[in-house]
Amino acid sequence: MNEFDLIRRYFTHAASGAVLGVGDDAAILRPTPGHDLHVSADMLVSGRHFFADVDPEALGHKTLAVNLSDMAAMGAVPRWALLTLALPQLDEAWVAAFARGFFGLAAAHGVSVVGGDTTRGPLTLSVTIMGEAPQGQALRRDGARPGDDIWVSGQLGLAAAALQQRLGKLPGIALPAACLQQLERPQPRVALGQQLLGIAHAALDVSDGFAADLSHILQRSHCGAEVWLDALPTHPALQPWRAQLLPCIAAGGDDYELCFTAPPECAAKVEAAAAHAGVAVSRVGRISTVPGLRLLAADGAEVQLERLGYDHFA
Ligand code: ADP
Ligand code: MG
Repeated sequence: MNEFDLIRRYFTHAASGAVLGVGDDAAILRPTPGHDLHVSADMLVSGRHFFADVDPEALGHKTLAVNLSDMAAMGAVPRWALLTLALPQLDEAWVAAFARGFFGLAAAHGVSVVGGDTTRGPLTLSVTIMGEAPQGQALRRDGARPGDDIWVSGQLGLAAAALQQRLGKLPGIALPAACLQQLERPQPRVALGQQLLGIAHAALDVSDGFAADLSHILQRSHCGAEVWLDALPTHPALQPWRAQLLPCIAAGGDDYELCFTAPPECAAKVEAAAAHAGVAVSRVGRISTVPGLRLLAADGAEVQLERLGYDHFA
């Protein structure tokens, strides 16, 4: 099997949502009239974003999921993806399992893989994803306003706890299976993002750590916030260790939940949107005019975390 057999057998699927998909020098896409095109890229590097021995089917899922999460954060409908792979060798069973995970999730979200590139090299997986939303409607990071409630979907800290445990750093804590599931097969909140169009003022997905990611909204929106640490949602089975796991919950990363702001008078609409999307949401803080992020304990005391999130070059 050579490069071209590999592409034909594992990476060429009918691209029903494109004018022209895999096989030519370029794909041809036709966005829906009246919509803006949203484009984003996310890369996973072996040993940096995942362990080399991870289940390849789960890795295929996650490679697309982290990109779908960016579309979710914009409130965009994901439509097309480019898949670029560097593979150390041609391990056909590995590639088949990876493709199963990747294309399974693509089909579930109606995403057409319209091209990519395949080379030999240190295991690296890169996706460029494209989606669309009605013109001018997207959920950006720069729209938060003082007085807005801060919301987060799902549960935080599960993936980070699973990672810490794998690194031998959480001895004596029995993690629920949901933690490894969250680390290896995150569910991007695509439906929720779309439901929040016209309701949320600002949004992003939590990938580096809740506190670090919320700080991006604050910077882009030129405002500050207070966050009620006790309100940050996590798995019920982690509650007994909540104090020890606070760095995972508030700053752990790899959650792929949505953090968004909305005016208090929209709270019922937010709850309805979340119910419609089948996701829980929690109100965890408030945007203010006072610059900076204040993390508050139940007694109102300000808590300092050692770090707010993950930084590749910190
Ligand atoms: P080029 O020589 O122009 O780079 P390639 O031979 O690399 O073209 O690719 C042939 C076709 O296969 C192109 O349409 C390209 O987009 C597609 N392709 C290559 N690798 C992948 C991949 N990993 N997933 C999906 N499509 C791919
Ligand atoms: Mg090529």
